[in-house]
Amino acid sequence: MPPLRLDSPLGDVLDDKVAKALTKAFGMARVGDLLAHYPRRYALRGELTPIASLTVGEQVSIVAEIVSVAERRMHNRRGSLLEVVISDGEGQLSLTFFNQSWRMGELRRGRRGMFSGKVGEFRGGKQFAHPDYQLFDDLETAAQTAQALASRPIPVYPATAAVATWTIAKAVEGALDGLGEVDDPLPDDLRRRHALLPARTALEHIHRPSVIDDVAPAQQTLRMQEALVLQAGLLQQRAAVAALHARPRPAGELRESFDARLTFALTDDQASVGEQIAADLVAERPMNRLVQGEVGSGKTLIALRAMLQVAESGGQAALIAPTEVLAAQHLRSIAAMLGPDLSAKLIPTLLTGQMPAADRRRAALRVASGQSLIVVGTHALLSATTTFADLALVVVDEQHRFGVEQRDALRAKGTAPHVLVLTATPIPRTVAMTVFGDLDVSTIRTLPPGRAGIESFVAPLAEKPSWFGRVWDRAAEEVAAGRQVFVVCAAIDVDVDEPGDAPSATDAAASRPTWGVAQVATLLSQLPRFAQVRIEILHGRMPSDEKDAVMRRVAAGEVDLLIATTVIEVGVDVPNASTMIVLDADRFGVSQLHQLRGRVGRGSVPGLCLLVTEAAVGSPARERVEAVAATLDGFVLAEVDLELRGEGDVLGAAQSGARSSLRLLRVVADADLIAEARDEASVLLADDPQLTAHPGLRDAIERRLDDDTRAALGKN
Ligand code: ADP
Ligand code: MG
Repeated sequence: MPPLRLDSPLGDVLDDKVAKALTKAFGMARVGDLLAHYPRRYALRGELTPIASLTVGEQVSIVAEIVSVAERRMHNRRGSLLEVVISDGEGQLSLTFFNQSWRMGELRRGRRGMFSGKVGEFRGGKQFAHPDYQLFDDLETAAQTAQALASRPIPVYPATAAVATWTIAKAVEGALDGLGEVDDPLPDDLRRRHALLPARTALEHIHRPSVIDDVAPAQQTLRMQEALVLQAGLLQQRAAVAALHARPRPAGELRESFDARLTFALTDDQASVGEQIAADLVAERPMNRLVQGEVGSGKTLIALRAMLQVAESGGQAALIAPTEVLAAQHLRSIAAMLGPDLSAKLIPTLLTGQMPAADRRRAALRVASGQSLIVVGTHALLSATTTFADLALVVVDEQHRFGVEQRDALRAKGTAPHVLVLTATPIPRTVAMTVFGDLDVSTIRTLPPGRAGIESFVAPLAEKPSWFGRVWDRAAEEVAAGRQVFVVCAAIDVDVDEPGDAPSATDAAASRPTWGVAQVATLLSQLPRFAQVRIEILHGRMPSDEKDAVMRRVAAGEVDLLIATTVIEVGVDVPNASTMIVLDADRFGVSQLHQLRGRVGRGSVPGLCLLVTEAAVGSPARERVEAVAATLDGFVLAEVDLELRGEGDVLGAAQSGARSSLRLLRVVADADLIAEARDEASVLLADDPQLTAHPGLRDAIERRLDDDTRAALGKN
């Protein structure tokens, strides 16, 4: 049989049953996937120790002979217990295995081996529960190899109920034994400069280290490989978009007359980001840019100016919002910002899935004919039935609700349209580089002047239950002063979470009932101090026209207190809203709380944010809430989020499952490494865009992209 390659199918080395189980459990298809399934940790066998001198609690290895084997049923619970007694001539030790009768086939009286485990105590005697062992034909071999084996770490793999760690270990052994030459993804000189290992050695050392010190250098090498493959792949993707031909869209009268209508000056950040975008739009390659900035920093305004620029040459712009409410609101505020004259020229049009069929047909016609130059909508804009006359610019609002695939689907609707992604979720630099490495990133850091600011407080009900009443006193005061108040709940009804709405609660608190919108509405409407207060509710299960009607009334000042789920999280703009009360604040992520807080203090009215929580002092849930109250800097909070929640979640949410997750790389801890890999990758690609001279890297990128495609398909 020819030597295995990383892209050989798993079936070449494993029997079908095991291969299928690995595919099902971990999505592995090839030998390279199996070998990229790295040990989670390593168990150490421990020093070779005579039985007579064992200390309870120590991890040790013993060379001994089996003197008896017995199996008995358990008295108090189902199952059987296998008890094996071993002796090294000086002392005796019992080994116990629960429900592992099959081991009787190999653990037979008279056999010798090395047994490793943690010394326990049972009824006065010492024992090993479920030890690791290695049997030998004779004691001589045992003595010779035991010393070497004792220091050899045992890899422990991420496993599932169906595929145990030792099944994986065995599969990996087979793969490594059969593996031929590996084309190194790291160029020789890079490897030398960083004193990294050849790829084959790194795999060998991470899966079967001779000593524990072998592991770290192997991980370091594989981490660099992962970073380089990822960055080179992203840069190639970026180059592929750049190679497309876009029609240059110079600015003209339309944008000028819009600017002339503005009653304020652009902030410095808005001006410079605006210039970057304006320059992107006159280039002959498509813009592919992410603009991040706090809620209210003026991103929408910048996007609108970009729309006006492409409209000059008859190009259409599509703005995609994550919800119907937001799409409708965007349309209204765009029409208002444009004013009647520009609106008449550009015919801003709403196109969403829930519009009445006749309206929708009319809207679709205006879009297809090119009459409407600004189109605002939801996912419906992606449906096959929507066609554009000349789609020049796609603006995606609130990227974190929007996946890479959808961005691509929309891109496919025009001939290489420019793409602008807006996000109010500040993205740490390395995450941006890792997840959005194919986008240019611009940041609007400062808010327009004249914002009154927001004060944030935690209402810690665990210690101060009476604050619950004071929260509502504050709300009533704000309403009395003519302001509007939002109350956000983690659920619609008690214990019925809105799907996809609340974050997965990771803390023990998850079992506690949450406040529901309905419950809170009932409670508040019965309080005497709210007798004159106009209270309404808003949540995702309401029909969208009803939601729209509620939001319209809120915007018009006809609602004093709105009780809602996180449907109000993004984009809703009510300058008169002063207060954000979040109940069960610990149920929300850091970024989400920050986002919610951004809904108030948007006008000249000072904002107040009350984070109500029952989480105990010092619990992770409470820490999250305290972190939000402690700062208004979204970038700081994004880093906190990354640390507290673990980056799996952050990356997962950011990339919408389109990219398979990182293996050894950690975006925070490996920030420098990732930046370095990006530099290395761009130097390599500058000389050799197709990586002809680096087949190892080229193949690794291909395998990785394949994984992504498979992961994306699996999700759909
Ligand atoms: P974002 O989309 O980032 O949340 P918007 O573009 O919706 O922000 O702007 C928020 C509000 O601030 C809008 O009412 C907008 O008209 C206003 N605004 C935007 N830029 C400025 C500025 N430079 N000065 C004053 N107000 C501004
Ligand atoms: Mg906005």
